[in-house]
Amino acid sequence: MPNENGVDAQAVLGAAKLGLWRGEFEDGKMVRLYADDMMNDLLGTDARMTPEERCSFFATRIHPDDSALFEDYVSKITEVPTEIVYRYIHPQRGEYLVRCGGSRDPAAKDRVCILGVHRDISDIVRLEKARFAEKRLAEQNITLRKEQEQKELYYRELLDAQNCGLMVYTYPERKIIHMNAEARRIFHVSGIEQMQRELRTKLLRAYYPDPTTPERLHNLRLEDGAVDYECVLSYGTPDACHIMAKTKTFLMPGGEHTIVTTFLDVSDMVTLRDALRKAQEGSRAKSSFLFAMSHDLRTPMNAIIGYADLIQSNWGSEEVCREYLKKLKEASGYLLSLIGNVLEVSRIESGKESLHEIPWDLRHLEEALDILEGEIAKKQLTVTSSVTLPQPYVSCDATKVQEILMNLLSNAVKYTPNGGHIAMTLGQRPGSQADSTVLTIRVQDDGIGIAKEFQPHLFEAFSRERDSSQSGIMGTGLGLQIVKSFVSLMGGTVTVDSTPGKGSCFTVELPLQQTSPESIQRPKSTVLPPLEGKRVLLAEDNALNAEITSTILHNVGMLVDTAENGAVALSMLQAVPAGYYDLILMDIQMPCMNGYEATRAIRALHDGREGILIIAMTANAFEEDRQAAFAAGMDDYASKPIEPVKLERTIAEALARKREQQGKQK
Ligand code: ADP
Repeated sequence: MPNENGVDAQAVLGAAKLGLWRGEFEDGKMVRLYADDMMNDLLGTDARMTPEERCSFFATRIHPDDSALFEDYVSKITEVPTEIVYRYIHPQRGEYLVRCGGSRDPAAKDRVCILGVHRDISDIVRLEKARFAEKRLAEQNITLRKEQEQKELYYRELLDAQNCGLMVYTYPERKIIHMNAEARRIFHVSGIEQMQRELRTKLLRAYYPDPTTPERLHNLRLEDGAVDYECVLSYGTPDACHIMAKTKTFLMPGGEHTIVTTFLDVSDMVTLRDALRKAQEGSRAKSSFLFAMSHDLRTPMNAIIGYADLIQSNWGSEEVCREYLKKLKEASGYLLSLIGNVLEVSRIESGKESLHEIPWDLRHLEEALDILEGEIAKKQLTVTSSVTLPQPYVSCDATKVQEILMNLLSNAVKYTPNGGHIAMTLGQRPGSQADSTVLTIRVQDDGIGIAKEFQPHLFEAFSRERDSSQSGIMGTGLGLQIVKSFVSLMGGTVTVDSTPGKGSCFTVELPLQQTSPESIQRPKSTVLPPLEGKRVLLAEDNALNAEITSTILHNVGMLVDTAENGAVALSMLQAVPAGYYDLILMDIQMPCMNGYEATRAIRALHDGREGILIIAMTANAFEEDRQAAFAAGMDDYASKPIEPVKLERTIAEALARKREQQGKQK
């Protein structure tokens, strides 16, 4: 029952499992232990027991491991208030933990009397232990989490430091779990989120050089394993990246697949490998070309030397010599065209070739057949031509268009046996834009034809189906490469349809810009001045060439002085009065002072000699050489080898123009 303060002392003691006791120690007597009800309950003793019995019982129930501790307590408690925690073994409820405290009763004078409390603290200790364990667990969890985070950071940084890309995603969900820095760089994404959004497009834009790779990767999703492969990411875009990859699947315990891909950016290595392969192919092609060239150059050279010998030994019999001379010229012409082709190809390969467009009349193309007349007649070929050019006025690189047609026609002539047929068709159709037109050139023959296996190599440099020794047909395998390069430069196409033994048909289509008939300059018919009596200063370092040119000029009555280089020419010009020479024929490559330098020095004179007509004479036969000659201040240009009629005409025309200019200035 609660007392007047509202507290029920017995209930509190019961709830706290707190028993009250009193111990009495008297010399020569057994120790007596008194207990309240709660104490009896806690000890497992009976209220009816004598205090001596209770004490004896109590002593037997102290946990044997704690008995020494208890004895120590008892010895102290008679002196000072003392507390102990020990284990008590209850006869029914078993072992529990006791907190026991007591102090001496000062009121008892005749004996030692101790008053104390005995409390079952098992629940409290258990609770505290649990709380402590919980706290330790929480602390351990925090430490573990920190360690885990640090570990993760360490591994992430470790993976980010690799120059090998890594990406991990789940399958079939395709949820990206990890991507390292290199993977982000290769895929051009800032993080996993962006990659997740773009994953499908990125995977679709991958190109696999080995066509079996996609299937091997697909199978990987059905079973565990790994696939090594090569792949180009962002294929066809400026971000393209060539990688070597390994994709591996892991089957997770939950049945989920994880797909791990590691990849190495090998773009630089691929570029190097391609360059090396190209260089090796180039050097292979060059070796086979040199081999072919040594044969093909020797053939006309042998003919030239052979006919020269024959002329020498048949000197006097004019008829025979004329025939040999004709053949010698033919061989020289072939040699020259061979050298021209080789130079042309080397220009194409070095990327120097460009278009020089001029207004032109496409009908001039028909003249190609006239050039081949001799060959056609010799082989008794029948040639038909069909020309339908309703808009013949175009702006184009006429030389190259002519060269394309000439190459196709001369091949048709070369590869068609005697008595065969050749058909040339020149046509036109409207272009895709206003004022544009497409020129169609078709050259068909019923000659030897081309094997299907060789057709893919037709347009490669130096490639021939049969070499000259097999076929007896001379060639270098350069003509069609030149055709292909020119056609590509003009944005056109060239195709072939051929059957061995039946013949070939080459078709070229060239998109061209139309122009007006007025834009085409027609040659003016000027009266050319006679060359006889004209004085020429010939600057030429090669004695043989100087002699040939002097002889040609002497033969038309010109007066020739020669200088062996530019510096000598300059001083010879300055040693005579202005106007003494009518013109200078200037070689370009000469020792001491070359043709360009000499021309610039002459143009810089201020003594009336600076305006002299200067015609360049060089073996460098390209447009930029012409441009360089004009840029140095030369008036005209004659290419070597010198052809007498052409040279005479060039000189006469240049003199006429000079005369006209001087007339205008007066
Ligand atoms: P070339 O005629 O100097 O060998 P081309 O580049 O013009 O070089 O031709 C390459 C090769 O293509 C020739 O060697 C020949 O094998 C084949 N070819 C070209 N045109 C014809 C043709 N009209 N008929 C048969 N073969 C041809």
